[in-house]
Amino acid sequence: MSAIAETERVGSFPHNLTKDDRDNEWLNAKLDFLWNTYFSDVARVNHVKIEFGKRWKGRLGMITLSASGSTTYIAVNSLLRSRQAPYFVPTITVAHELVHYAHGFGSPLPRRYAHPHQGGVVAKDLAERGLGNEHRLYRKWLAEHWYDFYGRATSPIRRVSSLPVSVQQSRG
Ligand SMILES: [Zn+2]
Repeated sequence: MSAIAETERVGSFPHNLTKDDRDNEWLNAKLDFLWNTYFSDVARVNHVKIEFGKRWKGRLGMITLSASGSTTYIAVNSLLRSRQAPYFVPTITVAHELVHYAHGFGSPLPRRYAHPHQGGVVAKDLAERGLGNEHRLYRKWLAEHWYDFYGRATSPIRRVSSLPVSVQQSRG
């Protein structure tokens, strides 16, 4: 699914957030931890800014490069601030975008593939870097819980959705 579905509603979700929920500081610490631990072979060749972005229905994260190439912007779905989403969901979301960075998408590094998800290169790279287990947990949680979580997070009325729509991350 390439279209971005965004919620227009404010809903009740922000009121459910607590001081324990994740913030941009958490994201920055996670980015640094992942980079130092699993992506230390990848040169950090520009300024990388990461923050929680929109509450997309069909997208968890995205990565873009400024026109000058001086700054990479990573946005993570703001619904993942909630601790009701297990740690491995925002963690793998950030790692997924770092794989794109390493492959030259949303970064000044040489582009390694014609398309960012060509032949499952993101999943392969995550597994080779030692993040395969968390990636499996992430995929399982998304398949089983995402639309229910999204519904609860964006509506004051509990809804259970069984829409046959796959969740995937940014194409670039
Ligand atoms: Zn992607």
